[in-house]
Amino acid sequence: MGMKMPQVKGCSVDNCAYNTQHDCHAMAVTIGEPGGDPACDTYFEAARHGGVMDMTAGVGACKTADCSFNKDYECSASSIKVGMKHNQPDCLTYQPR
Ligand code: SF4
Repeated sequence: MGMKMPQVKGCSVDNCAYNTQHDCHAMAVTIGEPGGDPACDTYFEAARHGGVMDMTAGVGACKTADCSFNKDYECSASSIKVGMKHNQPDCLTYQPR
């Protein structure tokens, strides 16, 4: 059976351009900077908020290979949460192997 794209079930980074009412409205996000930090690479700030309002983002890709949910650079969790950690927007569902 194929993998299903996990949903971003809540994001508390309200100043991100894709965030409206604690939900991410990008079509998909990429998690993980090179080097193993589970940061949200899709985060950015802009003068107005955007994305697709009737959609909630999925995790399109994840570069955090040392997470126990990571399989071949994709996320196998059923959903993730994103929020501030160590002064950056991070995947809060990250579990080190
Ligand atoms: S749970 Fe793990 S594999 Fe999934 S997006 Fe977060 S860091 Fe990546």
